[in-house]
Order: sequence, then C-alpha cells, then structure tokens
Amino acid sequence: MSFDALAGNEALRERLSQRAARGDLGHAYLISGPVGSGRTTLARLMAAAMVCTGNGKVPCGVCAGCKKALSGIHPDVTAIGGDSKEITVGQARTLRADAYIRPNEAPRKVYLIQNAQNMNNFAQNALLKVLEDGPAYAAFLLIADNPSRVLPTIRSRCEELFLSPVTPRQAEAYLVRRFGDKPQVREAAAGCGGILGRAVERLEGEQDLSQVQEAALKLAAVFADADEPGLMQLCVGLERWSREDFSALLSELLLLVRHALALQAGTQAEVPAAALPAARRLGRRGRRELLEAAGLLEELGRAGKFNVGVGHLAGALCAGLGGL
Ligand SMILES: [Zn+2]
Repeated sequence: MSFDALAGNEALRERLSQRAARGDLGHAYLISGPVGSGRTTLARLMAAAMVCTGNGKVPCGVCAGCKKALSGIHPDVTAIGGDSKEITVGQARTLRADAYIRPNEAPRKVYLIQNAQNMNNFAQNALLKVLEDGPAYAAFLLIADNPSRVLPTIRSRCEELFLSPVTPRQAEAYLVRRFGDKPQVREAAAGCGGILGRAVERLEGEQDLSQVQEAALKLAAVFADADEPGLMQLCVGLERWSREDFSALLSELLLLVRHALALQAGTQAEVPAAALPAARRLGRRGRRELLEAAGLLEELGRAGKFNVGVGHLAGALCAGLGGL
C-alpha cells in the first residue's frame, strides 16, 4: 500500500515512503494545499504509517492498526477541527494533556488537527508547548488551507508538506479506478483542474441522482402499464430510502408526469429528449389519471415536509397510484 492511495505528488510520496520504511517519520507536520487536493487522505496515510504493525510496506494497509487508522477509529489517533468552528485553547489543552498519556496499543500517538487555521492564538500557543517538548511518541499532523495563517512559531517547528493538483492523466487514472470507465468520469477528470476532491464530489452527486432517476423511470413504467404487482414491489423497496432521496424521487416522477401531460397537449417542444420515451409510455394513461397522479405526487411531496415517515409515504404512493 505505502502512500499509493494518494494521487500524483510522486516526489512527496517517495520521500515519505522512504522515511516511513525507516520508521523515521517526524513528530510535527503542516500539510497544506487546495481544498480537495488530498490533504486529509495524506494525513490518514501518515497516521496509519505511524501506528502500522504489519510487515513490508509502511503503511501496509492490512494490519489492524492501519485498518483502524484509515477508518478513523484507532484509539491512538485523535482528530479535531473537522467542522469549521474555531479551535479553542480548551481543546488544545485537552489534546496536550492527552499526549502525555502513553499510547494504548500502537508505538505512537497521532493527533490530526484539521482546519488548523481555525486555532485561535491561545490555542496555537498551548499547542506550541507540546510541539516543543512533548513525548517522543506523539506526532501532530496539522492541515491548513493556508500555512501563512498558522503562527510562525508553530510553522518553524513543523515540516511543511504541500500538495499540488494532479495532471489530467493522473486524475483520469484515479477516477476510472474508483468510479469505472464511463464518459462522465473522463469528463469530470478533464474538468476538475487537477483537484480530485472536486471531481469526486461531482461524481458522487451524479451517482445519487442516477439512483433517484432510475427509480423514477421504473415507477413511471409500472404506472404506465398499470402493473400493480410491479408497483407494490418497487414501493416496498422505497420504505428504506432517506427522506431526501424519497422527496427527490417524488419530484422526478412528477416531472415525468407533467412531461406526459405536455405531450398529450401537443407541446412536445417543452419535453427534454432524454425524458421522451418515459413520457410517451406514461401517455398510455388517460389525461384524468395523469392529472390525478400529479395531484397525488404534489400532496405526498408536501406531506414529506411535515415529518410523515418515508414508510407511510411509500405506502400512500403505492395505494394512490395503484388505485388510478
Ligand atoms: Zn499496517
């Protein structure tokens, strides 16, 4: 495994791999680079390297220490500053006190400080003391948007690691490995400016959307065919959906029903080409049924905003569409 999970940045990876292999990673690092450039990924890999108990490459990625560190549940790896709030002197002091308690199970104890620029000056000064004379097993990984917002006294005690955007080819290789070789993955790779986090966010968003769209198309099809068993089967599967996804599904289906109504009214120009097959199929139902379906979907959409459970809504959708 080593540091391969980080895309691009070869020189940096090579340097850290060599030091990790020698058991020679330092005790304070300041990791910076654009948001989405892999700073947290790098910090997690470094934390894993420091608590790795496996053989071979460091981090090995397979020992219990690595697995726990990479999934954020290692008792000797503590993370703070994950939200955008100010990091207080109280938090810095708690962290400092904790650093003097020996590790639970790993050779080292690691503190990951995200958004280090959010430490106020008191917090930075409290941290400075433990950076200067903390125990040798303690390591501090600071992640900052902009290293210049960290006090010079802290900076001077840290080794600085800067992550650069990756090349289009590296972005594509990484994204294809993670999301599969699809046109939209290549497009996201080309359009992310080398900041993989941006592309990942976009592709994960599209994945959610396509699940909703797929379910809307299936529902439209069973409603168009008046296929009651099919409708029931689909609605049972929807009971476990989150409120947000279910509400997105209702909107998507409502849109398809409106497209079908537009087709019936002879205004095809208003229907996007991608929605035409589903809208035509829905057109098998009469205008009155489509209008009633639209009314039902609007009503359920409103009910969803008033804390009615998704299970109830899915049941009402099934009964409502099935009764038309
Ligand atoms: Zn390991």
